[in-house]
Amino acid sequence: MGPHISESALSGLVEDLAGEVIVPGDPDYDEARRIHNAMIDRRPSVIARCATPADVSNAILFGRSCELPVAVRGGGHSVAGSSMIDGALVIDLSRMHAVVVDPEDMTVRVEGGATMGRLDHACQPFHLATTGGRVSTTGVAGFALGGGSGWLERKFGLASDNLLAADLITAEGKHVHTDTEENPDLFWALHGGGGNFGVATSLTLRLHELPRMSFVMLFFLPDKAPEVVRAYRDLTAAAPDEVGGGAIYLPAPPEPFVPPELVGKLVCGALLTYAGPVEEVRELAAPLFALKPEIAIDTDIAYTDLQCMLDDPPGLRNYWSAEYLTSFPDEAVDVFCARGAEIPMPTATQHVLFPLGGAVTAGAGPYPQPWRTAPWGVHPFATWEDPAMDEPAIQWVKDVRADARPWSIDSVYLNFTGAEGEQRVVDSFGEENYRRLAAVKAAYDPDNVFRFNHNITPTAA
Ligand SMILES: Cc1cc2nc3c(=O)[nH]c(=O)nc-3n(C[C@H](O)[C@H](O)[C@H](O)COP(=O)(O)OP(=O)(O)OC[C@H]3O[C@@H](n4cnc5c(N)ncnc54)[C@H](O)[C@@H]3O)c2cc1C
Repeated sequence: MGPHISESALSGLVEDLAGEVIVPGDPDYDEARRIHNAMIDRRPSVIARCATPADVSNAILFGRSCELPVAVRGGGHSVAGSSMIDGALVIDLSRMHAVVVDPEDMTVRVEGGATMGRLDHACQPFHLATTGGRVSTTGVAGFALGGGSGWLERKFGLASDNLLAADLITAEGKHVHTDTEENPDLFWALHGGGGNFGVATSLTLRLHELPRMSFVMLFFLPDKAPEVVRAYRDLTAAAPDEVGGGAIYLPAPPEPFVPPELVGKLVCGALLTYAGPVEEVRELAAPLFALKPEIAIDTDIAYTDLQCMLDDPPGLRNYWSAEYLTSFPDEAVDVFCARGAEIPMPTATQHVLFPLGGAVTAGAGPYPQPWRTAPWGVHPFATWEDPAMDEPAIQWVKDVRADARPWSIDSVYLNFTGAEGEQRVVDSFGEENYRRLAAVKAAYDPDNVFRFNHNITPTAA
């Protein structure tokens, strides 16, 4: 049996919050506990849907006084479901979604529960953008504090490189501001350390001019894949930083541009996103066009439209992981393609090779993110509907990881992984960085109140 929550404590919370308190039996309880990964079906004791930073503080203090575990929900996209915990107090930030753009300063301030879609839409009228996640419903804070990888990363750096300041509520319910001058150790730790140090109620991010955006997406039959992936590798390794994208095995989606006979069949895609006009990216993609794709799309696109191009229908089961590679020789291409051809069907799984480099590598220096020095990332992203596919889909992701081991840098971008154990977290940061992060954690959350995340164990320096 979990801790007892008295009626008076609960009514105290209701009174203390400008937002809402949702408990089991309330009409919106089931909707409020639903998150992106349909495999996660958990029943928290209390959901505090906060409206203000003061609400966040009151909710944390309530949770601690009732000895409830405390989880934090932004966009609900953690694959391990770290934002929704059985018997917990969930601090739900979905009401705190304001986004304020300052076009003069080229900055944007987002509240702790804002999603990528809200951020991108607010910036678009000014032709400004910052590196964002590739799906519009991802929470900005969970994404950016974990690192923040997106189509624009080779040009503008990771989202965390664009973090200028943050306001947090700590485990003691206190407000703390951080930037390069104020609490600089905390600021450093927020570059990859995720939700370990407190609840971010606002983030300020740097914006960049983005007057034009375009992409080329080519689909090939799987028998051409090794040739395509090799060409993709060689082309992106030499491409300007404006280029992002990935080589992606996937079942062809039921979209109007896909001929009916290909829908649901495995294809190998080559995607080049480009921070510039389509004429330029078309020219860059010439070696891929020469391989005669089955489907070719090349177009200018509004950045906000690109940003929701991969939005999935909700309600799919999810399991993913990643490995970052020091090199991607022909042998690795063959292994990547062989496993791509074995994507379990029927699923909506994607097997992605990301090019890094550019500003991702250039900005690596000061931060606890050794993985970003790797030139390539492999991201097996399994999604499916039927629970009968759980075992083959999960095993396939594990097999991709095992395949990639010979080239792995060991450090991984944790936002692309589920719960893979403590050592994986240590490896991700590297031992020296981990020690420093653990000391910051000990300073701001010595009791590990914020432990449902890629957890850093508090250890005083
Ligand atoms: C469909 C999909 C696409 C994705 N695409 C990308 C991508 O392109 N690039 C990329 O880098 N990642 C991507 N991700 C991964 C994503 O960045 C992480 O899952 C991230 O943690 C999601 O944040 P969230 O707020 O949506 O998730 P939640 O599940 O709500 O939160 C996850 C954790 O983040 C922390 N957190 C969230 N909000 C706050 C806050 N305000 N203050 C403190 N801690 C907080 C908490 O520790 C919480 O447990 C994707 C995920 C999905 C499901």
